Amino acid sequence: MERIVEIEKFSSDDVVEATLRPDGWSGYIGQEKIKKNLAVFIEASKKRDESLDHVLFYGPPGLGKTTLALIIAEEMGTNIKVTAAPMIEKSGDLAAILTNLEEGDILFIDEIHRLSPAVEEILYPSMEDFRLDIIIGSGPAAQTVKIDLPRFTLIGATTRAGMLSNPLRDRFGMSFRMNFYSTEELSRIIIQASAKLKKPIEKDASLEIARRSRATPRIALRLLKRVRDFADVANESSIAHKRTKFALDELGINTYGFDEMDIRLLELLVKAKGRAMGLSTIAAALSEDEGTVEDVLEPYLLANGFLERTARGRIATAKTYEFLKLSPMHTQESLFK
Ligand code: ADP
Repeated sequence: MERIVEIEKFSSDDVVEATLRPDGWSGYIGQEKIKKNLAVFIEASKKRDESLDHVLFYGPPGLGKTTLALIIAEEMGTNIKVTAAPMIEKSGDLAAILTNLEEGDILFIDEIHRLSPAVEEILYPSMEDFRLDIIIGSGPAAQTVKIDLPRFTLIGATTRAGMLSNPLRDRFGMSFRMNFYSTEELSRIIIQASAKLKKPIEKDASLEIARRSRATPRIALRLLKRVRDFADVANESSIAHKRTKFALDELGINTYGFDEMDIRLLELLVKAKGRAMGLSTIAAALSEDEGTVEDVLEPYLLANGFLERTARGRIATAKTYEFLKLSPMHTQESLFK
């Protein structure tokens, strides 16, 4: 099977990430409901010898959307072309991609909510009727040329399902919401990856990393890599719990794996002293857009009881106050000055 993967700039972490990607269903841990459903749809379309219906995955970054798309391609035995909406600037860019697809191919578009309206416009008939409508020229002399496309499968991924236009969302036959991972699932992902890195890890150590990974495989794998560095420098052939704890503390990774943005958001809420804060106020204070706050930052905090959404806005919970008091970096004085 030929695989065309086109991801522009690779950082060294991306390369490690690529090497740690599970090869098939058996290595893809968790998201049981999604796996079960997809397996049925894949088998059905293979039986009918048809291409798979278009699929949408949505949820916070690093939860395994791209990986699922790669596994689907493997299961279907088809080529996959991986791209991201910001790389498709003009309608001609999309037309070029679509006309180069072969029957049954998969086109994966990451951050699909960022497609421009002009590009979306050509995507609709392509998804629905496998037909490309291209307008040549402008004004009264403009002509529409229709080009038939092979039957392909579009897999879209987004952190912001709410930002997809209705016509686009409606054209996906299946859509799946990705869930955060349990500590046990992350521990299994870490153990599996450490075997691939040829650096065995103790179960306790994997659980320690798992707890501090914001319930996200991508973060778990990055932490594993950093902890492995500490073990390598200490000439240890495997990763022990004690070394892991030391490394994570050295790296300033707190008990829940919150990053700087999480902490800043929680501090803001605590500073409001019980008053609810609106989304726009929070976004402005963090210099982030509202969508990122709502779809990337908040879900994990909500799921873990550090934030409540009320009709009037967001408020901190008892757990938030306790966490910030306990955090050595953020004493009561520094919070309220
Ligand atoms: P997304 O596309 O949602 O941002 P990715 O698919 O790129 O996330 O996943 C990030 C990293 O985490 C990849 O290296 C991938 O191999 C790993 N990963 C994600 N989900 C799983 C899983 N369920 N089992 C094993 N590894 C996973």
